[in-house]
Amino acid sequence: MIAPVAQTSVCGDVREHRLKSMLLRSNLVIRAKQVVLPHGIAAAAIHISQDKIATVADYEDVPAGSELVEVGEQSIVMPGLVDSHVHVNEPGRTEWEGFETATRAAAAGGITTIVDMPLNSIPPTTTRVGFEEKLAAAKSKCSVDVGFWGGVVPGNTSELAPLLAAGVVGFKCFLIHSGVDEFPNVTEGDLRTALPELTRLGAILIVHAELPGPISRTGIPACPNVAEKEIGTDRNVYPTEKEIGTDRNVCPTRYETFLASRPRAAENEAVELMIKLAREFGTRVHIVHHSSSDALGELRAAKTAGLKITAETCPHYLTLASEDIPDGATEFKCCPPIRERENCEQLWAALGDGTLDMIVSDHSPCPPEMKLRESGDFLAAWGGISSLQLRLPLVWTEAQRRGHSLDDLSRWLCAAPAQLVGLQNRKGKIAAGWDADLVIWNPEKQFEVAGQRLHHRHKLTPYEGKKLSGIVEKTFLRGRKIYDDGEFVGGPRGVLLTS
Ligand SMILES: [Zn+2]
Repeated sequence: MIAPVAQTSVCGDVREHRLKSMLLRSNLVIRAKQVVLPHGIAAAAIHISQDKIATVADYEDVPAGSELVEVGEQSIVMPGLVDSHVHVNEPGRTEWEGFETATRAAAAGGITTIVDMPLNSIPPTTTRVGFEEKLAAAKSKCSVDVGFWGGVVPGNTSELAPLLAAGVVGFKCFLIHSGVDEFPNVTEGDLRTALPELTRLGAILIVHAELPGPISRTGIPACPNVAEKEIGTDRNVYPTEKEIGTDRNVCPTRYETFLASRPRAAENEAVELMIKLAREFGTRVHIVHHSSSDALGELRAAKTAGLKITAETCPHYLTLASEDIPDGATEFKCCPPIRERENCEQLWAALGDGTLDMIVSDHSPCPPEMKLRESGDFLAAWGGISSLQLRLPLVWTEAQRRGHSLDDLSRWLCAAPAQLVGLQNRKGKIAAGWDADLVIWNPEKQFEVAGQRLHHRHKLTPYEGKKLSGIVEKTFLRGRKIYDDGEFVGGPRGVLLTS
């Protein structure tokens, strides 16, 4: 009776082996002299089977019969970028941005996964029902894969478990007015209610870390981001240039007025509060769009002490300096603000030593009228910069000037954001078993930014005319080419990442 069993087992092995080799047989091979792999850059042939990377083989290893993409000598193959901070705004404010336009901009920028923020859409993603509406709105429109953040607002603690079960990657909160009334900010008291639940669920909390106290202490009647409906009605609460007269320090068309209205202390105190709460409740905390270099020491110490805290910064804090922003140029307004050149250099140093973990876009669009470009009023204009499509060349141009490597770039733009949202075993890396999400780009080639050529819904950009290095040539999403030298290929193939 033993023999038949053994026989069956051998047959089973053979069958399994055949099945495996069939599944692993590549139908596509992409090979290049420079592939950014987890342990450095090497020549390699990436074998792709269906939507996964089957194996990363030697450069010469190209199985007969497979379709071969030969990458030019100058170009790099990197994991498809992951952008964990994108405001898509659909449904409800689709005229600001939508899934179709945002994800096309992403594909053109070499990004294969975005994660949508829970606010600026109506309804916001703060309830299970709101999340379902968002999923319905996104369905069949996405050119890249899309994940979703949920939101923590006062009183929605009972929604957190259902939202997580429905597939959000974690939760965002604001410590200051968010700019839209349907997504109110939380106080320390609200957080003391929500944090035990987040810890119990093992969910991460990402935080807009500015506290209102230091902002109101400046005495500048700083405007929070205002929703469209409020523009016009609330204008009388902000001083006009005429009212201010010759007092240039509070002139609303000067960038330094806006900068003074959002002091570093607002960020520093907020980071301090979040470190205290992370320690007390054991919750995983992530600081979004970090700008103040003064808080880096606290962050560094908290990480060294073993707290589960991470932080991101954005291209605008790393490539622009307040000293260069002209009067009235409200396309440069975002919150927290772009600070001084010296602050920018410290952010780069913090990326270098690991205090800051990643660079994400905080793509936050609005219709150009809301930027109030004609009046140039920084205090009343909407705060937010759209840079989804430009993240790779913006960061690369400045990173290489400072001696950072392609490995650093890949960690900041791909692996770290994937890890933040729990996709580290699927996205952000070129390795067997990972999704075949790839970008082929030329790091040497330069171009000049022209807003009109961006695929974002609105074209106003603080980067207009800027010369950047790094041109995205081809983007592959789960083994299929979706972007090829300026053209989109095929229809929207992105999936909604809810599990
Ligand atoms: Zn944001």
